[in-house]
Amino acid sequence: NRQIVLAQRPVGAPDANTLRLETSDKPVAGAGQMLLRTEYLSLDPYMRGRMNDSKSYAEPVAIGAPMVGGTVARVVTSDVEGFSEGDWVLSFNGWQDYAVSDGAGVTNMGTDPAHPSWALGIMGMPGLTAYCGLLEIGAPKAGETVVTAAATGPVGATVGQIAKIKGCRAVGIAGGGEKCAHAVNELGFDACIDRNATDFEAQLAAACPDGIDVYFENVGGAVLAAVLPLLNPFARVPLCGLVSQYNATSLPEGPDRSGAMLGAFLVKKIKVEGFIVWDSFPNHYPRFAKEMTDWIKEGKIKYREQMVEGLEHAPDAFNGLLEGRNFGKLVVKVGAS
Ligand code: NDP
Repeated sequence: NRQIVLAQRPVGAPDANTLRLETSDKPVAGAGQMLLRTEYLSLDPYMRGRMNDSKSYAEPVAIGAPMVGGTVARVVTSDVEGFSEGDWVLSFNGWQDYAVSDGAGVTNMGTDPAHPSWALGIMGMPGLTAYCGLLEIGAPKAGETVVTAAATGPVGATVGQIAKIKGCRAVGIAGGGEKCAHAVNELGFDACIDRNATDFEAQLAAACPDGIDVYFENVGGAVLAAVLPLLNPFARVPLCGLVSQYNATSLPEGPDRSGAMLGAFLVKKIKVEGFIVWDSFPNHYPRFAKEMTDWIKEGKIKYREQMVEGLEHAPDAFNGLLEGRNFGKLVVKVGAS
């Protein structure tokens, strides 16, 4: 049983000393338990926060413990009612080949799901995040302008496509020309601006001639600074994530901009609302799943995955996620033997 454990809490970006691959015997399921083999491991930005020793909305990962993570697994043996050998399940095995479970928090996906790994992306946590954050907090109206960064990732791509379904102008921000072309040509964004362009602010302003009504905040930092002056009165800001800050070790240089930011929110009467998907929207999954299934069938929502082969490559792939090296929803095909 291979496990990737937290060896050391990182300062800044995780490095070669942060995670360690360990091998031990395959666990054995006892009475009332089942043995799960991890097929797909989801890599998500929140995992960076779990490496820190600070109390957040969830407990940190202990030193020496396997990294946490959402997984799609198969049942190897089962003494749990409702789960049989061969079933596919959505579980929380973490970064390891095998896990033992009593069934708590595990969802049975049946024996033959069409796209098992999608339960970690478009049909799972990131999809629900986009759906609830945009529709419940962003409350976009037809004709309004919706802006999101990380526009080709599972959250941002879904935000932009739902914005189009709702009749909005969707403007994405992404890292590099290839991602921007994908956002416009495949996902249907009206425009997508490269956050690394030297005239990024000017391009963003030109892409939002009527200002910004909904800014779906995924990244913070320089992108937020460019968005602020474009926000319209009564704009809504679903505060979803701040990925540009997750590896930060100090405050940015220069004057403290928090006063100007809060001042802009105040005078423009802007609503900013943070949310944590499962806490904030515990009952939305069934409605989301139905609507998303229909949209995918109708071709209104497209989904891109980046599949990494082999659990041993998860640490490097995870670092890439925080730097924008991923292109689409990052999933590891674990390859347990
Ligand atoms: P992505 O797959 O989109 O990966 C993160 C992306 O962030 C990178 O690919 C990169 O895209 C972008 N990025 C990285 N560094 C920077 C930077 N310095 N400035 C601007 N952009 C940067 O991730 P997800 O779709 O899974 O998650 C998106 C956001 O949603 C994250 O902040 C995450 O924490 C948050 N989230 C929050 C949830 C909640 O309940 N509140 C639930 C799920 C996700 P690019 O190169 O294209 O810029």
